[in-house]
This record gives sequence, C-alpha cells and structure tokens, in this order.
Amino acid sequence: MCGIVGYVGRQAAAPLLLQGLARLEYRGYDSAGVALLDGSGFCVYKEAGRLSVLAARMNGGEGLPQTVGIGHTRWATHGAPTARNAHPHLSDNGHWAVVHNGIIENEAVLRRTLREAGVVLRSDTDSELIAQLLQREDDGDVPSTLRRVTAQLEGSFALGVLYTAQPERVYAVRCQSPLVIGVADEGVFLASDIPAVLPYTQRCVMLQDGDVACLTAEGYTVYGADGEPLQRPLQETAWEAEQAERGAYAHFMLKEIHEQPEAVAATLLPHLQEGRVTPEVLPLTAAQAVALKRVVLVGCGSAYHAGMVGAQVMERLARVPCVAEVASEYRYRQPVTDGDTLVVCISQSGETADTLAALREAKRLGARVMAVANVEGSTLAAESEAVLLTRAGPEIAVATTKAYAAQLAALYLLAVRLGVMRGTVTPAEEQRLTAELRRLPSLIRGLLKTAPQMHALAKRLPPLTDAYFIGRGIDHAAALEASLKLKEISYIHSEAYAAGELKHGTISLMESGTFVAALACDKALLTKTLANVREVRARGAWVLLLTAETVEEAADEVLTIPAAEPLFQASLSIVPLQLLGYYTALERGCDIDHPRNLAKSVTVE
Ligand code: GLU
Repeated sequence: MCGIVGYVGRQAAAPLLLQGLARLEYRGYDSAGVALLDGSGFCVYKEAGRLSVLAARMNGGEGLPQTVGIGHTRWATHGAPTARNAHPHLSDNGHWAVVHNGIIENEAVLRRTLREAGVVLRSDTDSELIAQLLQREDDGDVPSTLRRVTAQLEGSFALGVLYTAQPERVYAVRCQSPLVIGVADEGVFLASDIPAVLPYTQRCVMLQDGDVACLTAEGYTVYGADGEPLQRPLQETAWEAEQAERGAYAHFMLKEIHEQPEAVAATLLPHLQEGRVTPEVLPLTAAQAVALKRVVLVGCGSAYHAGMVGAQVMERLARVPCVAEVASEYRYRQPVTDGDTLVVCISQSGETADTLAALREAKRLGARVMAVANVEGSTLAAESEAVLLTRAGPEIAVATTKAYAAQLAALYLLAVRLGVMRGTVTPAEEQRLTAELRRLPSLIRGLLKTAPQMHALAKRLPPLTDAYFIGRGIDHAAALEASLKLKEISYIHSEAYAAGELKHGTISLMESGTFVAALACDKALLTKTLANVREVRARGAWVLLLTAETVEEAADEVLTIPAAEPLFQASLSIVPLQLLGYYTALERGCDIDHPRNLAKSVTVE
C-alpha cells in the first residue's frame, strides 16, 4: 500500500522522485510528500490529495538542484490525510527525515514515552515517532542507529531515511513491507516496487525482511540483522517500462484485460512440452505426491478465488482432497496440517501480508509449501520451497484481471502434474489436457471481442443498486470473481452464490428488475443451473446467461462462451464479466484504476 521512492545520484532528484511516485500512484494514496537533502539541510514539500497538487507546488521539480531525496504517497492509518500528517516526517532537531510504509502497532506506548521525555510531536502519525526515535538513538553510525530504533518497533514497516550528517546517502529498512533498490546509470533508486524504477533500470535488488541498506550514487550496501554486510543479488527483471504504462487504453484495467491472452500463454508455455506438463512445476517426489493427504490453496481476494477454481480442478484430476482458504482465516484457524499437506500460497505481488503469514504458519506446522506469484524474488517466492511464476508482467490496475488469469493457468499446470504423479491422469489424458491448455490464449482473445456487447449491456442496464452472480461448481468460483470485479470498481453491491443455495434464503431478494448473471458453462450442470435461472426469472429478475451450449429463450440475454474443457472454463467466462464490470464502472463515472479505499498490494494485516 502507498509508496516509497528514493534517489541518490548525479541528476536532480526532485523530477525523478515525482515521476517515481506517479508510477506508484496505482497503489492508492491520499497525500504525498518529498524531502530533498544537500549540505545545507532538508527541503520538504507535503500536500494532501493527488500527487498533481504536490507536483504543481514543486513546479515539477524544476530548479531544485539537490541530487538526494526521498518521496512518499501516504495511505493514512494513523491521523487524517492532511498535509501535516503527510510524509516525510522530520525529527525535532531537523537531522532526520523519514518516509514510512506500514503500521507501527506499539505507537501508543512509544508516543507516551516520547511525550514524557518532553518531545513535541507535530503530527498524529505513527511514522513521525520513528524520526524522533532516530534522534534519540543517534550515535553517528546510521545502520546501528536504525537497528536500535527498529528493535523498538512492532508492526510492519519499510523506511526511507535521510540524515543531514551524511547528505550523500539514502538509507532503507525493510520489515514486512516491500522495498527494492534499482541500480541505474544515473544513480541508485529506492522504491516500493519494480514498476517505479523501470524507466531507469531493469537491474533490481529485492530487499528481504530485516535488511538495512545504504544507497550512494555509486552503489549500495546491504546489512543483515547482525549488522554485517551481506550479498543481495542484483537481478535483471524481464519487465519493461512500457508494460507499466497505459498506452492508448483509457485505463490500466482495460489494457490488462486485453493482455490476458499473453499473460496466460507466457505462464503456460514454458511448462508445456510435447504434450506433457514439465515436472519442475511441482516440488514433490513421486512418493511424496502419492502420499499427499491434502492440498490447501491459500490466497486473499481474487487470488483466493483463483484458489477456489484451482482446488476443484486439482481435486478432480488428482483425486486428493483440495480446499481453498482465505489466508487471513487459515493463519489463525489451527488447521490440521502436516508433512503430507501441500500448501499453495497465491499472491500477485508475493508480498500480501496475510498470505505471507499463512505461508509461515504452514511451514511451522510442517507442511510442504509452494508459491504462485507474479514477482520473482518476492518474499513469498523467497520463503517457499518452490515458486511457480505467473508471467503476467506488471499489473497496475487495483482490480486484478491478467494476474488472476495467469494464476488460474498456473494452478491448471499444478493440477495436471499432480494428477500425472498420482497416476490419476493417464498419459493420453495429459496429452488431451495440455492441448486444451494451449487453446486457452486464443479462446480468451476471441472473448475480448465481446467488449462492444458488454459496453452496450452496461449502458442498457437500469441503474443498479444490487447484482447477483450464480453458478455451480467451477462456475460458482468464477461467479465469485465476477461479482468482486463489479463491486470493487463500480461500488454496486454484488454477491455471488452457489446457484442451488439461492432458494435457501437469498431468493427473497429477487424482485422485478433484479440483475442476475448466471454462469452455466459446465455442461454437466447446465440443466440444474437453468432451473435456478427459471426460478429467479419467475420472480422478475433480469438474467444474463453465460453458457457454452445453445439454449433458446432461457434468459434476457445469452452470451455464448466457446466450448472448451469444462475444467478450464473459468478462464473464459470471466472475460466478458470483467468487461461488464469495467464498462459498468465507466458508465457510472468511477475512478476505475483507483477504486476508493483500496490498495493494490495489501501489505498490512
Ligand atoms: N501508518 C503511516 C501513516 O498513517 C504510514 C501509512 C502508509 O503506509 O502510507 O502515516
């Protein structure tokens, strides 16, 4: 959530910091600020509201010669989103400037201690306390001062820190909030994630929890928890700057919906060879695969929905109990988990706080753990036994589309491979399934052509206050994701139900004009779901039906989804529904790429 940038180099820092913050805008924020440093001290600019307000106040950075600085977009957790509470925060003596991403959980105790010691606090934030603690602990050795201060902090934090006595350095600390260093020709960058540094470099260092880093114009040093320098590899990311730009599309979300065929192909193809799924997708020996007692797919939001699809596909193919769980529930539930349990943790960023916590809990309980993540070198990837990368490229829109599509693809690979290893998928069946997987990108591409139809439908629908998505089996899992898409960007109240559940309560909400999207792509369940469609229509509901079969007059609007392997249908039916969500939000004038109250990568509990 929110964003940190830093720069030290040979160029003026201010324009670079503003550009970096602009590339982090998608993460969600409510105020922004920058601190520049040179031999005469700090220059600080802070504004509430959009980054453009700050950029205007700083005249785009024009005429500001400092070559060292830090910047921040804040997503307020402690104190109102005002200029006063915006970061950077300075220590009382003006020697330290801090930007902070995360939450300090023991802020009340720290605040009281500082107040009793006579420190005058100027903001309501937890973050300012860090600057004041740095002043108190200052012994001139910055890494050790940072260690003593962070030892007093509970919670999650990524910090960017400037110190007037060392005006040619930027310091960074990472604890449960992501930070990357980007090494470019014109200097060294610090950022909350990779897209912010892509215009300048593809050479990145992913900091790990407990790291303290010192950035200079020439390079960087990372210190481990014991204070000793350690090696963090410089990796070359395959992501490119244009991938994180909107191009000709009106919104990142629309662009990313259209990038799904490539995201799915890039995720699948490296692992499909001669009609087989390559063995390295799954970190199990044959004996371990056979001995497996259960698979748990853990994620949050759309990653959880991907897990729901994945669990059904995997259980059907590998004949082993598979369940999807919300990460924030799994971690506290004391689940039955042991060495015969495989826990698959799913996260686009690989930094989702609850998913990371679930991973650690699963490891503690002795499970085999693997990650499905979109960011190489992310914490989830680093802490898992193995990682299956989704290759969706940088995803900028808060509402995920292409990363979800790539997660489904990755989970299909795992499901087929596990089935093969357990002997429940024959070689002939593997051939057939992998051929079906290869068809997915072009089928998805075909469904993108429903965009005009979905736009017309979004215009035609009466002003909605509620929407319902129903389906059975995998269609139900897809319905949950479709419902989330609509609600998160259009703010229409929306729910998804297992179609057979409606008459156990929710059908009481059906009345004339109620909008229902019914997903009936699984042929085996079609007649059952059609019966539910009849039930809601009898009560006046307006029904959009998605089906792979020809059904006449069954609904107010029928959208035919190409017939494909039923296990993989969720990858298809979701596409027009993502478009429907997008166009509905567009017609309502919503801020599609920055939905209210939401952040892209949820790095707090
Ligand atoms: N907890 C801090 C604040 O409210 C930082 C929030 C953030 O990550 O932006 O200022």
